[in-house]
Amino acid sequence: YAKNLGKNQYCEYNGDMERKVIRKMEIEKGLRDALIKEKLQVYYQPKWDISSNRPIGFEALLRYTHPTLGKIAPDEFIPIAEETGLILPMTEWVLHRACHDCYEWNLEFKDNLVVSVNLSSKLIESSMLYNMTQSALVESGLAPNLLELEITEQTMIHCGASVGEQVQPLQRLGVKLSMDNFGSGYSFLGSLEQLHFQTIKIDKAYIEHYELPTKRAIVNSMIGLANQLNIQLVAEGVETEPQLNFLKDAGCHLMQGYYFKKPMPVNEVGKWLKQL
Ligand code: C2E
Ligand code: MG
Ligand code: MG
Repeated sequence: YAKNLGKNQYCEYNGDMERKVIRKMEIEKGLRDALIKEKLQVYYQPKWDISSNRPIGFEALLRYTHPTLGKIAPDEFIPIAEETGLILPMTEWVLHRACHDCYEWNLEFKDNLVVSVNLSSKLIESSMLYNMTQSALVESGLAPNLLELEITEQTMIHCGASVGEQVQPLQRLGVKLSMDNFGSGYSFLGSLEQLHFQTIKIDKAYIEHYELPTKRAIVNSMIGLANQLNIQLVAEGVETEPQLNFLKDAGCHLMQGYYFKKPMPVNEVGKWLKQL
């Protein structure tokens, strides 16, 4: 009996692994196809300024629907794209879309709206960032200071000095830099010395549990740090009014989250801006 049980468990475990591998392969194949056929989508989520009650810009977030598996979360398909190298053409595509869309919004609304694009550490390592970004700016006509690149704290730690080599030439053009998911890594303070960031984004884990004394203390110290360094601070993942009030009282006035707006497809952005 025990022998049989052991055997069955082994099989189940094996079947599970197999399903995961097959799913991964299907997603990879789907992503390749989606790139060629322009089936990927960019959604935009506003960054909101509670002192002016206006958006300051939008973050571009990739969306992908597989023909048979349905919607796939970025947390699942981005790592697959990174492993397979697909993240390079995918980010190139997002950069072009985002710069183009942002150019159009500013043409219509004249509000100096900034668009933010997330960068993978794989792109930093590839040395293709400069050419990719520069061509997206030139082709779209977007002013470089209306483009912001989001680099996670993890990438700063993982890539070290090469981030500066890749990003500084773009900063000289006027492109802005934002540190994403601040506080989620190990050595976040050191990263601020390596490069000049215009923005820091407080990781949503701090906002989600803002009622915990330790989280509150850390958020307060991040706000103090950002003020002293003259860096703009955005709180991520704001979902409720109590969270908003806590941040407001602590002196943070830039926020992003479902409380204001969920990420939306590009054709809704214009309508949304119009009704503000
Ligand atoms: P991120 O850059 O930190 O983006 C913020 C994530 O939080 C987004 O998830 C957004 O939809 C979600 N979010 C926004 N407001 C709220 C809220 O109030 N509550 C909660 N619970 N979540 C909120 P999403 O779109 O699923 O993206 C997940 C991650 O995937 C992103 O995290 C980013 O690291 C990565 N990603 C997305 N698009 C791209 C891309 O084009 N390139 C790269 N390299 N990574 C991307
Ligand atoms: Mg981001
Ligand atoms: Mg983030």
